[in-house]
Amino acid sequence: MKKLKLTTVIFYIVILALLFSWIFGLFGSRVDNITRSQMTTMIQQGQVKRFVVEGEYIQLWLHTPYEGKTELVGKLADPEGFLQSMQTTLEEQTKNGTLESYDLVAGKKASPWDYVFPIIVAGLVILLAWALLMGRANQNNPMANFGRARVGHGQPGGKKITFADVAGVDEEKAELQEVVDFLRNPKKFADIGAKIPHGILLSGAPGTGKTMLARAVAGEADVQFLSISGSDFMEMYVGVGASRVRDLFEQAKKIAPAIIFIDEIDAVGRKRGSGMGGGHDEREQTLNQLLVEMDGFSRTEGVIVLAATNRPDILDPALLRPGRFDRQIYVNAPDAKGREEILKVHAKDKRLDDSVSLKTIALSTSGFTGADLANLLNEAAILAARENRPVLNMDDMNEAMMKILAGPEKRSRVRLKKDLQITAVHEAGHAVAMHSLPTHDPVHQISIIPRGHALGLTWTQPKEDSNHLTRNEMYEQIVGLLGGRVAEALFLKDISTGASNDIDRASKLARDMIARYGMCESLGTVSYTGGDELFIGRDYEKVKGYSEKVAGTIDDEVKALMDKAYDHCREILTRDADKMKKVVEFLLENETMTGKQFADCMAGKEISEAEKSTLFDFAKTEEE
Ligand code: ADP
Ligand code: ZN
Repeated sequence: MKKLKLTTVIFYIVILALLFSWIFGLFGSRVDNITRSQMTTMIQQGQVKRFVVEGEYIQLWLHTPYEGKTELVGKLADPEGFLQSMQTTLEEQTKNGTLESYDLVAGKKASPWDYVFPIIVAGLVILLAWALLMGRANQNNPMANFGRARVGHGQPGGKKITFADVAGVDEEKAELQEVVDFLRNPKKFADIGAKIPHGILLSGAPGTGKTMLARAVAGEADVQFLSISGSDFMEMYVGVGASRVRDLFEQAKKIAPAIIFIDEIDAVGRKRGSGMGGGHDEREQTLNQLLVEMDGFSRTEGVIVLAATNRPDILDPALLRPGRFDRQIYVNAPDAKGREEILKVHAKDKRLDDSVSLKTIALSTSGFTGADLANLLNEAAILAARENRPVLNMDDMNEAMMKILAGPEKRSRVRLKKDLQITAVHEAGHAVAMHSLPTHDPVHQISIIPRGHALGLTWTQPKEDSNHLTRNEMYEQIVGLLGGRVAEALFLKDISTGASNDIDRASKLARDMIARYGMCESLGTVSYTGGDELFIGRDYEKVKGYSEKVAGTIDDEVKALMDKAYDHCREILTRDADKMKKVVEFLLENETMTGKQFADCMAGKEISEAEKSTLFDFAKTEEE
């Protein structure tokens, strides 16, 4: 509180000082624009009543106004000389009464200090105020360390991360091992003349463990770790980003050997010169400074820059040139084995009961990143804790999985009979359509209990990790997505808004097939997604790299593909109308239908009693 008052006082002092110098400035400007010879003439012609010379100023009182004034202030470089030169005139005029008096005020010699002094005082006061503010800087003052890099040192929570904590990324670790070796023993490499890269770019989807890997390199090599996010460089004020970059590298050199980690480097590293309206001066300056710093330190200094991005494609090519980030490591989403290892790492501090098979979970979480898996285990632990159970079971895992994929179940939401009916028909439509599509993943569970934003859900279970989608697979996905809408149209004779998300996704798939993957004859094997990114106003936007004519053809082809899929779906559902009805009835009665029950129904068998089914069942049967 006291300190706050101090700053307020300083603030007022500064204001006063400024005011003072301003007033002084007014005095200065009161000097009238008259020359020495003009004044001489005025006195000689008897226009002056009296005058006073003070320092280098002379103030004159006039008989007859000059430019509307009866008082004038002029400047005299050499007042004594001035008086001497007019000695006789002055004596004469004093005698005849024209000039009442004239004085030379002695003692005060004007000097440049008269102006400069107050300004210096004001300046000193301002400086003092600034210094005090900076002194208090560390106490949550936003002006603190303005041009300094905000870096995170060392390891979070004091815990050192090593390669053992990062699972499922063995190739990436092997590539980084050499950086570790270099940091441990830079001399060995220098002696041999081996060149270690200045910078390494880790690219990969968010949550794949890029930050963890960078931390682990520092941990393994036992060196300092300086981390900063690309967005920290971006400030409203031009020049701050560049000075933060400079500061970051200075700090690193001081504490070398060290690792500088720049997260989200795309925030500063976007291609330069792609913009409208003057673009982003600040960002370009920051990027330029980064390039300068990367070039500026020698390989023996023991500083290595790691950077992470999920958009390596938009980085300025200058960043990727030799001597800068000349090595790129792709951090992939983990495969089934990697996922199992990651689950093991995160399960270490949790108690799991015998029902939990991490292998099963790993098999059925295709596409999950390390962060997703960590989240899955954490959600499961929260569910168990809520019920005061110290040990996690497979049901917790299942519920956590559904919660992550679709949001929490909302059983308490009031639902009208009519809505339930629509939802049941919609979901049954998806399920029955999917069942008849050979490449489609099997239906795993159907539910008309709302979850997250969805009113009902049909789950499918991917069979295996697959990196490729064939044209036929994509087409059948579209057919499956349309199942809900087609079922409503066929069996309810009306359609609802419930299908909007399905239609969005189906349309996007169709557009990708045609414009992106070259899967359509009339447009050929050409990708029409290219085109440059342009900075428009405040964001980047894609600019079409093709003609209006092509755009028209794309739209036509998308429409044709969607129509074809729609008809295909209608055929399936019309053929299986009786099975559709059974599924709908079952859903209205039981709210959920397991994959097995659904399969029985489709095979025309008696539907078995509800046995518990989890999202992981499928993976289990695969395993057996
Ligand atoms: P990125 O920097 O790629 O966005 P992070 O390194 O920040 O991802 O990972 C986020 C979290 O996900 C980590 O804190 C960790 O809990 C978990 N995680 C990600 N990848 C792995 C992995 N390979 N092994 C173990 N945990 C991981
Ligand atoms: Zn749907």
